[in-house]
Amino acid sequence: MKPLVLSLALVAAFQTGSKPQAGDVCPYCKNDPALMSAAGVVSHGPFALADKDSAEIVAKLPTSQWIFLETAHLRWASSLGDDAVDQRDKERVAAELERLRAKLPAVPAKPKRLDPWLRLHLMALKGEEFYARFQALLRVTDADFPAERRASGPYMGAGKFLGEKDKFEVVVHTTRDNHKRFTSSFSGVLVNDSFRWHFPGLHKLIVSVPAEDADLREDRWLWPHVVHNLAHVMFAAYKHFAYYPPVWMDEGLAVALEKEAHYESLTGEGEEGSLRDSKGPSDFGAAALKLVASDKAPRLAELSACHEFGELGIDGIVSAWSMTRFLIDEHGDEYARLLAGIKGQLDDKGMQSGADLPGLQRRLFQELWGWSAADFDTAWRAWVKAPKAAK
Ligand SMILES: [Zn+2]
Ligand SMILES: [Zn+2]
Repeated sequence: MKPLVLSLALVAAFQTGSKPQAGDVCPYCKNDPALMSAAGVVSHGPFALADKDSAEIVAKLPTSQWIFLETAHLRWASSLGDDAVDQRDKERVAAELERLRAKLPAVPAKPKRLDPWLRLHLMALKGEEFYARFQALLRVTDADFPAERRASGPYMGAGKFLGEKDKFEVVVHTTRDNHKRFTSSFSGVLVNDSFRWHFPGLHKLIVSVPAEDADLREDRWLWPHVVHNLAHVMFAAYKHFAYYPPVWMDEGLAVALEKEAHYESLTGEGEEGSLRDSKGPSDFGAAALKLVASDKAPRLAELSACHEFGELGIDGIVSAWSMTRFLIDEHGDEYARLLAGIKGQLDDKGMQSGADLPGLQRRLFQELWGWSAADFDTAWRAWVKAPKAAK
């Protein structure tokens, strides 16, 4: 099963379940429009979500509580319960809560546990921070994306959200059962692990996460996993989703941003979607250096020939991550233009086209840097071997 399937497959009937719950009021926003607007909260629901709405999710996916939050660029649905703050995460959580408390004074400074509303508010806060990070990486702002495709000027897609018409959505389930029922209701397929989907008619992308297993139940691992998936859907959305970018570039970017969120986190892509995977080396920097020093690192040309995640292998993922870090850290402006070029290819009729991406990639490396694939390998390897501050 490929993520982000373009056409709708047969859609499974959405089972009916429990009754809608009584509307709970957020203890931090308190339904106060001034507080909500200060905190960047557009709504706590109800609102449209996936191909349905939040009320239908409450009615048909039984759990102890569903809560919702919409910000400027994202919509969230969460059935997460409480989470104890791990000793190792105290400082990070305190800093995050401080950013939230600057907008919402009722947020506690050092709680031992995070309640469901706080967990959702923190995800929403970090979600917008991540959106800003992603836009900075692309060297774009909201102003670059018109609501409709422009007749002239650079091609930027078809909508305000990186090129899509609607906001990015993330649904976090406490049970795999609900995740399966939810995703099959619009995709027609049953998936075990995190799932990404593009709704062609609605022009938006969604991530559904089953936070049931130990590795995704806690925020410390859940968040970087969400970041990995958001990086994929945001890159897919850039200039409107029409075809898959080269897998090394897509995975390199997702892993780079995931590791910015937590250096030890690594999300692999399963048969059906994506899952957290603990099999990779704990220190990617050391692993990349080892590959380069022993001359076992794959060449860019080899990575570019991979069409599926599975073809990359762990050495390929480490290398794709390191090559991406090299481009972000040393050639950020050109890297932004590389991503723009890869995602914005039009054919001679002005339609989006994923034709000959290896050729397009070759031309872009030549145009932006004057590099052949072999020149890139040389530059990247030298960078990997050069002493640098730990990342
Ligand atoms: Zn709130
Ligand atoms: Zn991935």
